[in-house]
Amino acid sequence: MFITAQFDSGNIEVIEANSVDNIQLAIRKDNQSDFYQWFHFKLYGEPGVEHVMTITNAGTSAYPDGWKDYGAVASYDRENWFRVPTEYNGKELVIRFAPDQESVYFAYFAPYSYERHQDLVQWAQQSIECQHVLLGQTLDGRDMNLLVIGEPDDHKKAIWITARQHPGESMAEWFVEGLLSRLLDDEDGTARRLLEDNVFYVVPNMNPDGSVRGHLRTNAVGVNLNREWAEPSLERSPEVYLVLQAMAASGVDLYLDIHGDENLPYNFLAGSEGIPSYTEQMDKLGEQFKQTLLNITPEFQSKFGYEVDKPGEANLTVASNAVAERFNCLAFTLEMPFKDNADLPDADFGWSANRSQQLGADVLSAIYSIAKNLRD
Ligand SMILES: [Zn+2]
Repeated sequence: MFITAQFDSGNIEVIEANSVDNIQLAIRKDNQSDFYQWFHFKLYGEPGVEHVMTITNAGTSAYPDGWKDYGAVASYDRENWFRVPTEYNGKELVIRFAPDQESVYFAYFAPYSYERHQDLVQWAQQSIECQHVLLGQTLDGRDMNLLVIGEPDDHKKAIWITARQHPGESMAEWFVEGLLSRLLDDEDGTARRLLEDNVFYVVPNMNPDGSVRGHLRTNAVGVNLNREWAEPSLERSPEVYLVLQAMAASGVDLYLDIHGDENLPYNFLAGSEGIPSYTEQMDKLGEQFKQTLLNITPEFQSKFGYEVDKPGEANLTVASNAVAERFNCLAFTLEMPFKDNADLPDADFGWSANRSQQLGADVLSAIYSIAKNLRD
């Protein structure tokens, strides 16, 4: 028997793995940070025999409630990720699994690899509508990739979408892949119409270093990028610095920042009601955006979510608030579950890569419903 996490986005420490019924594991902390929750490892074991894998430090992870009613994902082929029985006793997370094959991967959610990220960027670049812009480099020396879709022009509105500031929230990049596959489909009428009057600026992965390192929430030096938007720096948070610089050049008329939530088993939006310059027009458009999503997909709901900030009480270091305030635009954080959509549960797969992609494609229709009114 052997357990390893020595690969892209791998994260596990083996405490003890001598017998199949007592495998003791721990999740590594993000570098220079106390956050941890993302895990991703491979078990080479005995087919047909139950393996009992205990993540011993689950109870002190960043979001311990995230382990309640949660099932880990597993895959034999690294394409199809299915849920496996997982128990949580308030301290430890136990995965019991009898593999059919010699080796099997386990993860917190379906991983979105750095190779796939690079493939996505090169694929998108093939489209005549898409320009690949290299914004600069991260602290580990990886590229910050921006995709500009549509021909920039003064009369066109700028729609910005960023994903995966928190690198463990891999569903965010699956979402972007779904959105891009529709936006770059020249036989999709909604996409074609949108690109007549709008330009999309898409950052599929805001935190490539954290992604490759197997982090939950921070970049290479332990910085939570979604608290850097008031004053990003090239030393601590070049990812945000570079994107904000590009936003300043293009302007922003709509901003969506895509995330995953550890606790809530729902898809939901968090708005910027608490920013100093929140307007009635923003509120009206935001409601229309939500209502369209409610009408077109049962995967979205607006009953459960974060508490709405009181006027003036928004945290302006958070991306969606900072961008809404600075560019006087509609902005949302969009959250997807690590668990499942409790309104539409799927015992075999839970919330998944495919469902994230579909939601990304559907969000394009919701953008279409408000695009004309983004500038008053
Ligand atoms: Zn997040």
